Amino acid sequence: MSRSRLLAGAALMLGLAGVVPSVGAFEGIRVTLLGTGADAPDLQRAAPGTLIEAASVRLLVDGGVDVSAQLTKIGLGPAGINVLLLPHLRPEHTAGLAELWLRGWREGRRGALLVIGPQGTQALVEELQRARRGEIAADLQRDPDGLAIEVQEIEENQVFEDGGVVVTAIVVEPAPSGPAYAFRVEYRGRAAVLSGDTRYARNLVGGARGASVILHEVTASGPDPAAQQAVRDSGHSAPEEAAEVFRAARPGLAVYTHIDLGAGSEEELVRRTRKIYGGPLVLGRDLMVIEIQNEVQVRGQPSEPR
Ligand SMILES: [Zn+2]
Repeated sequence: MSRSRLLAGAALMLGLAGVVPSVGAFEGIRVTLLGTGADAPDLQRAAPGTLIEAASVRLLVDGGVDVSAQLTKIGLGPAGINVLLLPHLRPEHTAGLAELWLRGWREGRRGALLVIGPQGTQALVEELQRARRGEIAADLQRDPDGLAIEVQEIEENQVFEDGGVVVTAIVVEPAPSGPAYAFRVEYRGRAAVLSGDTRYARNLVGGARGASVILHEVTASGPDPAAQQAVRDSGHSAPEEAAEVFRAARPGLAVYTHIDLGAGSEEELVRRTRKIYGGPLVLGRDLMVIEIQNEVQVRGQPSEPR
């Protein structure tokens, strides 16, 4: 059994992240789970947000309502973000955008905030800019650098490239509430894939092949079959759907995030996943760090001050 498999098993048994010290220069992809919650407010989990770092590139996936606070907890703050990827425009993915944008500006962001998202992102940003016009005008003695927002609505597979870091968008299968994408972030032959909001999507299996880590959304529902079907109908994944993706794509590590326990439990998520997928699995926790180099390592809390 590999080290990461053992580690994942221990993490699940204990309900805690494994702890592996980070040594030497880091040359891989670092994923920080800022918020592992879903759409409903959750006392245990912050709203969706995932930080992905590789080389000098820093990408924030999701602008959940807690992202600025979570970024502040890891010593970065909203000013440290210049690229935001939105997999979907539902409120749990976008409700923190105003704070990320304006708080980041006030705290000294250098350069524009690039927002990459589905069709509708431009309209969302323009609405925000209109709504905040008075507030910004009252604060214009401040350096305007960091106030600009650039929008890139997703039209092609490759949505970002910088310093050898490439991001590809993968169309997934949402509810009728608009387009949704997964993202594959690659650097030096390694890849992390985030599912975004989706029910089972064959595209995602193809797009996630060879990835070191797959971060997948999941919704528990309790034993009621009608409730389990309602999860699928709402454009989300029951544990079995996520497990099918993990089984087919065989990542180095499967991670649950965007976790909605509904009427269910964490134990239910693991039990139902394990009926289909036996590989390395971690239930994401807020501020968990996953480092992808030759091995995949998981740390429970960010330990290095920035
Ligand atoms: Zn969502």
